[in-house]
Amino acid sequence: MLVSKLKTFAKHLVLNTGSRREVINITRLVQSAVTESGVTAGLCVVFTTHSTSAILVNEDEEGLKSDILRKTAEDFPEGVAWAHNRIDDNADAHLAGTYLGPSVTVPVIGGRLTLGTWQSIFFLELDGPRSGRRIVVQVLGE
Ligand code: ZN
Repeated sequence: MLVSKLKTFAKHLVLNTGSRREVINITRLVQSAVTESGVTAGLCVVFTTHSTSAILVNEDEEGLKSDILRKTAEDFPEGVAWAHNRIDDNADAHLAGTYLGPSVTVPVIGGRLTLGTWQSIFFLELDGPRSGRRIVVQVLGE
């Protein structure tokens, strides 16, 4: 009989953000969770539990991070008569979160996130500043 060696591990990361829109590199925190999990081969899911935020993978370069914020502001402008603004003045943040997405999945090989040389994992704050933003890192594998 085949005995499954599948492990699952979950950790909550808690972040405080300092601006309305902000790009925060969380790669080190995610890799620490992978290391803590003991999983050497599998998948790592990084999921934000907030509908006014997103998770991205891209390059940690200052110009690019400001371009991401500029593009987000252009595509999802504040001050527009979005219907959600009738009850809560943050429709632009919900819309950006919807289209950018709440999670990424990164393969884990040899106990490491298999990110490319120029890739990092980012939490994108869309309606800050906030305290206690929760991100779930779940690692599945063996
Ligand atoms: Zn809202």
